[in-house]
Amino acid sequence: MKLNAEDTIAAIATPPGAGGVGIVRVSGPRAVAVVQPLFRTKGKQTLEGAPSHHMLYGWIERDGEPLDEVLAVVMRAPHSYTRQDVVEVHCHGGALVTRTVLELTLERGARLAHPGEFTLRAFLNGRLDLTRAEAVQDLVGARSGWGLRVSANQLRGRLYGEIQALREDVAHVAALVSAGIDFPEEDVVFAHREDIQRRLQGVERRVRGLLDTAERGRRMREGLAVAIVGRPNVGKSSLLNALLRESRAIVTDIPGTTRDTLEESLDLGGLAVRLIDTAGIRDTTDKIEREGIARTRRAIESADLVLAVLDGSAPLLPEDRQVLALAPAAATLAVVNKRDRMSGAEPPWAGELGPLPRVALSALTGEGLPALEEWMRGWAVQDERPLLEHAILTNLRQTQAAQGALAAVQAALAAIADGQGEELIAVDLARGLDALGDIVGETTADDLLNRIFAEFCIGK
Ligand code: GDP
Repeated sequence: MKLNAEDTIAAIATPPGAGGVGIVRVSGPRAVAVVQPLFRTKGKQTLEGAPSHHMLYGWIERDGEPLDEVLAVVMRAPHSYTRQDVVEVHCHGGALVTRTVLELTLERGARLAHPGEFTLRAFLNGRLDLTRAEAVQDLVGARSGWGLRVSANQLRGRLYGEIQALREDVAHVAALVSAGIDFPEEDVVFAHREDIQRRLQGVERRVRGLLDTAERGRRMREGLAVAIVGRPNVGKSSLLNALLRESRAIVTDIPGTTRDTLEESLDLGGLAVRLIDTAGIRDTTDKIEREGIARTRRAIESADLVLAVLDGSAPLLPEDRQVLALAPAAATLAVVNKRDRMSGAEPPWAGELGPLPRVALSALTGEGLPALEEWMRGWAVQDERPLLEHAILTNLRQTQAAQGALAAVQAALAAIADGQGEELIAVDLARGLDALGDIVGETTADDLLNRIFAEFCIGK
């Protein structure tokens, strides 16, 4: 895709299939000219003459024949999503109707938009920086209440604002250093040494703080990957089903990261969870048994958190110990299931679990399930709920750029401490500024932009 915003693009902006309305969106210098000839109102109103952001009622016509009764709206540049002239036609939501209206706009000279091209234009025209463009995508794909809040904050410019503040500090230092290069007789860096170090140390601390948020940002956005493991018959499938029933919405089924696991995505009171399921494995022969352990190992490897399910009404078997040995102590919860069939609060072998945190529950009756959910939520945020309100890094691209910025600022600090020349310090600072600029998309290469926006949906 060429990063050129001169042509006029069109796409269906609503999901495919039948719905209440189907929206065809057109953006570009000829947006009004493309739609005007297709659109008739009862009176003399035209799209050309219509005030911006006013809905007009009328009909879309094909060869003089009425095709669909619609509402049409013009949003004039620069007060639109793309900052170009945008026309939206709100049709009756049928797949064929919206497709036909789209085809009519293409016949009139619009070009079919690439995925994400409307948002790309918003970015190229300076309406959104890259973090906010990515937030649009995240918002559309949000799988949980928390994910939604993180994206909304990013869309409001939390991360953008933080990065801009950091860039200002680095730019201030860079200006001082370049003054030192221009006036070598005055030792500018030496004279401003304290201010420079204080600012750069502040930047270092804040970038570190951002990087600390990256892992939790990813979890909030993508969801916590939770593996349910255990020997056959302990109740893994029952637990999975019980959790699915509790969740507010099963949003999507995602194929597991390995071919022999399933993933289900759900929202547990705001926390997005991807359950990696190894259930349904019935070990009857030696070979399959070994395979079962291999699957368990793979599920554990791809998980953030492991739920090791044990049967509290039965003795602890060698297979249970095998599973527990595979589970990482820092990220495992022992789920003592079948509590309804236990005589006490703990099974007799509870001592063998050592310091592993555990929850006793019954997947069958649902008793103890809320405690499990609460535990998982607590584990996911580790009491950093306020994080929701902060600037956080939400994807690998941002994280890598922030790591580059951190390395550059640290190099500049080391160069200053070593008494290096201004030229050298200036190079580090320029690298740091570039890396920070990358986060907001100011210094990002075209092919990278293309890759980022290609992941958007059509019409967005
Ligand atoms: P999996 O092989 O680990 O997936 O185990 P299942 O979920 O298929 O459960 C094995 C058996 O244990 C089934 O007969 C379940 O009905 C039963 N079961 C699972 N959870 C409980 C529970 O909490 N209490 C009782 N009494 N039975 C359970």
